[in-house]
Amino acid sequence: MVKLQQPGIADLALLRSHLAAIVESSDDAIIGETLDGIVTSCNRGAERIYGYTATEMIGKSLDLLVPPDREDEIPGILKRIGDGERIEHYGTKRRRKDGTIIDISLTVSPIKDEGGRVIGASTIARDVTLAKRAEEALRMVDELRQRTDELARSNSELQRFAFVASHDLQEPARTVASFCELLSDRYKAQLDDNAREWIGYAVAGARRMRGLVADLLEYSRLQSPTRRFAPTDCASVVAEAVANLRVSIDEMRAEVSHDPLPVVTADAPQLAHLFQNLIANAIKFRGNQPPRVHVSAERHGNEWAFSVRDNGIGIEPRHCEQIFDVFRRLHPEGQYPGTGIGLAICKRVVEQHGGQIWVESEPGRGSVFYFSLPIHAGG
Ligand code: ADP
Repeated sequence: MVKLQQPGIADLALLRSHLAAIVESSDDAIIGETLDGIVTSCNRGAERIYGYTATEMIGKSLDLLVPPDREDEIPGILKRIGDGERIEHYGTKRRRKDGTIIDISLTVSPIKDEGGRVIGASTIARDVTLAKRAEEALRMVDELRQRTDELARSNSELQRFAFVASHDLQEPARTVASFCELLSDRYKAQLDDNAREWIGYAVAGARRMRGLVADLLEYSRLQSPTRRFAPTDCASVVAEAVANLRVSIDEMRAEVSHDPLPVVTADAPQLAHLFQNLIANAIKFRGNQPPRVHVSAERHGNEWAFSVRDNGIGIEPRHCEQIFDVFRRLHPEGQYPGTGIGLAICKRVVEQHGGQIWVESEPGRGSVFYFSLPIHAGG
């Protein structure tokens, strides 16, 4: 059995020097002070944390380390220590020699003489600035996550609303349009010029409303992510779009050509829609020359960059972003027909495929609509 022995004088001296070495090597700042707040001793940790040398601190008031807005703190702490209390993990701020403010956690204990009288205090201060920042960053991430969730919720409610509203408006819009047309056809002869003109406006308005509602419905149908991704030959998709546009291509004497096009992983009907909208616009917004439309694709790293180039009227650079918004048009209905939803649909299709869409254009010289499609592993 090991027998514990009372340490002798020599042992005590050794113990004290060990203790001093531990204090010296501590990462925390350890400061001894009088009950008036005058520094009597400090370790290397204190020099490192506060940026002062021991000589600069010893004999000075603790106020040296306290930011102006916390000056009242020290007397209160020292009063409690004087009453024999110990203060643990007290979070506060301190000022370094270079003026930077740091977050620290303090543990302050009374130093007593042999008779048990409190004659001073020892303060252990830990620099918790980094921990505080990490805590703050985590809190912000959490808040951001909550906001993103809320946004996603309200966004999906809004999309649902747009879908329901456009779906339910379809029927009344169709009824108004058909009855206005019926009125105009059947009773034209009995009406005077004014009434005929007004009914003409009503018919045009009702038709336009029907078009807008139908387009909005189509746009909101694209809200849920597609699950119909499959290898899709872009050359056949463009051929399908061209076939659908045959009447206006012939009528405008347009020429639509394309370079060799890749097979991509995509939702084929959506991709056909995208090409069709872009080619139809290239023909609709034509200049004085017959429309020339050219589709090409280039591989850039992990994505395909497609382009649809035309020789049409072009777009002013300041409008190049807004035209992708719902119902955003640059021309009155009478000049070029349309509802302003075509490019919004293109944007949604491209984004659902993980790509981006943009336009480069010069008024009077034509436009190039670009969109990117990521190349998925295996296709
Ligand atoms: P819409 O064609 O029904 O007006 P879009 O969303 O397809 O709606 O296009 C929005 C606007 O962008 C158009 O009104 C037009 O001003 C402009 N735009 C689109 N494509 C072209 C193009 N190829 N050349 C010039 N302007 C275009």
